[in-house]
Amino acid sequence: MFTDPMNGPRELPRLRQNLRLMTASPDEDGEPRWQILDPLSNKFFFLSRTGFYLFREWQHAKTAKELLALVNERDLDIDANDLDFFIRFLQLNHLIEIHTQRDVARLQQEVTNRKQNALMWLLHNYLFIKIPLVRPDLWLSRCFSKIKFLFRLRLHWVAFLLGGMGLVMVLRQWDTYTHTLQNFFNISAIIYYVGALVVVKTAHELGHAFVAKRYGCRVSSMGLAFLVMTPILYTDTTDAWRLRSRFQRLSIVTAGMRVEIYIACVATFLWGIVPDSSLRSVLFFVATTSWISSLLINTSPFMRYDGYYALSDFLGMENLQPRSFLVGKWFLRERLFGLGIAPPEPLNRKKCLLMVAYAWSTWVYRFFLFMGIAVLVYYFAFKLLGIILFLVEILWFLVWPIIKEIGWWFRLREKMTINRTSIVTFCLSLLILGALLIPWQSQISAPAVVTFERHQTFYPSESAQVVAWQITPDEKVEKGQPLILLESSDIEQDIHSIQIKLAALQTQWQRASSGALSRDAQLTLQTQISREQSRLLSLLERRERLVVRAPFSGYIGEDRLLKKGDYVNEKMPLATLYDPQSGIVKAYIKGQSVSRLKIGSQASFMGNDGKPLATKLVVEKVLPTAITHLSYPGLSSVYGGPIAAQKMQQQMIPDDSIYEVILSFQSKLPITRQEYGRVDLSVKPSSYLVNGVRYIYGILIRESGF
Ligand SMILES: [Zn+2]
Repeated sequence: MFTDPMNGPRELPRLRQNLRLMTASPDEDGEPRWQILDPLSNKFFFLSRTGFYLFREWQHAKTAKELLALVNERDLDIDANDLDFFIRFLQLNHLIEIHTQRDVARLQQEVTNRKQNALMWLLHNYLFIKIPLVRPDLWLSRCFSKIKFLFRLRLHWVAFLLGGMGLVMVLRQWDTYTHTLQNFFNISAIIYYVGALVVVKTAHELGHAFVAKRYGCRVSSMGLAFLVMTPILYTDTTDAWRLRSRFQRLSIVTAGMRVEIYIACVATFLWGIVPDSSLRSVLFFVATTSWISSLLINTSPFMRYDGYYALSDFLGMENLQPRSFLVGKWFLRERLFGLGIAPPEPLNRKKCLLMVAYAWSTWVYRFFLFMGIAVLVYYFAFKLLGIILFLVEILWFLVWPIIKEIGWWFRLREKMTINRTSIVTFCLSLLILGALLIPWQSQISAPAVVTFERHQTFYPSESAQVVAWQITPDEKVEKGQPLILLESSDIEQDIHSIQIKLAALQTQWQRASSGALSRDAQLTLQTQISREQSRLLSLLERRERLVVRAPFSGYIGEDRLLKKGDYVNEKMPLATLYDPQSGIVKAYIKGQSVSRLKIGSQASFMGNDGKPLATKLVVEKVLPTAITHLSYPGLSSVYGGPIAAQKMQQQMIPDDSIYEVILSFQSKLPITRQEYGRVDLSVKPSSYLVNGVRYIYGILIRESGF
């Protein structure tokens, strides 16, 4: 537009009159810099040495040629291209006076372009929209003169002291503190938190503003900003760029977090000393809110909050994050493919390491942050919405950037060559892919128990007293052998009285048979006798049932040990008899392994004591539904076993869905006791990738409740 060599010397556009030129702090490489302040838009523009001389000599020259001559007297080598570049920069930022019809037309064009692209603008700027609410400069100046003395009191030491004491008190009442935290995840708590957040954040912004005032800077506006749709307060302290002292600028940037930390200290201390009341709850909200927001968000240099700006100013690197991201991606591509592309900006070794470290740590930080937020969103929203938000979060913030980067690799494919770096990358990717895809896993190990399929637990048939206890744990007994003798005094008494009654009736009967009674009376007597006889018979049966005999040969389990004279009732188990020839193994596997299990395949058992079982096992069947409780407490985590479970109403409830697998012995092997251990089951081979997908699918199905 300005390069017009045919029409003689070009005239320079005129610079706006109200621009101010100032020296600035040196840049990250220690080179001197200057800055132009545009008071209309309250913006700063940094100038290098070249820019500075061009700007300074501008008014002394009429044409481009004159200006270049003037500047190049200063031992600089600037050509027409550099000048064009500079003029375009001035135009883009509206630093040039509007004179000609052409300038007006250009501006109009710009306005229409902007209108057309309102949607695009929203898309690009939705990440950060600022709405100024107040122009507080005058008010701040007046207030500052009143609170100036506070800065001299060194109150932050008081705050730190209180904070230290508060911390000790919180540690001493740690249970109360965490208990309060757990109880405060409901609607009214959220309202309290929002209230505390507004107070803390307002104090934070006033911190920035007053420290800015302290160093004589103008605070042009304060208001609301939307950072990725989240409303936050902001204070425009752009004027601080005017300050040459890095310390002063840093103390303005960090003022907000410092205020929050002081509030956190004081609130924690007060929480420790105030008696239990609603004031204490409010203090609790203020303390937790300010701790979390100051320590986790504001001071983190990986989020674009104060910590980031402080770091970027400390290093003297503007736009640290976008620049580091470019360098970080460039570095990654070079390390992967050895493309030999020049870095996005001039780098020395130290700067390169710094930017790559910053970019990569930011990515790792964000990965965990977004995962954390996704999980939180999932737990706090209701099920289906939770899953949708979780997926959106993961796809948009984690998967999409990775896809975009891979897209770049694809576009760069023509530049890729076979070199050492790319060969190493290729081999490593093959290895990783192989490790993921090859079906390695053809065996799974599952917690198991060797147990008796046939067993019987004895209960007394009714309340009774022990007469003889003829068993000891782990004792071998034969079929039919009496084990326990019980006696009921009720039965014995009844038998005794019936026997007496019967004897009396029988005497009457003998007399009757000698003819002393009528036929009717004889009949009645006969009925009476047979009734008493059947009563006696049933009593004798009950007595017989109180003798416990072994129904089959086997071993006595470890049950209660009673002695002669002890009382028992029908609810008390006396002993269990196990059939040693009926050994089986029960193994417990997770739901996702059920479909991979091969029925009829071989397996082996290894006891917890390190001794294998002497026979091979055969997988008989898997029970079709997940178990509701664990029948073998020793397998549950409650008693140090391998299956995660909770104890509820005397039962072990497993945390995951667990299926029971029954395995039989391949060869006959008597067992003498129950034993815990593991079985190695052969399964259909499957790769880590397929297992991972199956695992995630299982979680989705379970969590969505389909
Ligand atoms: Zn801030």
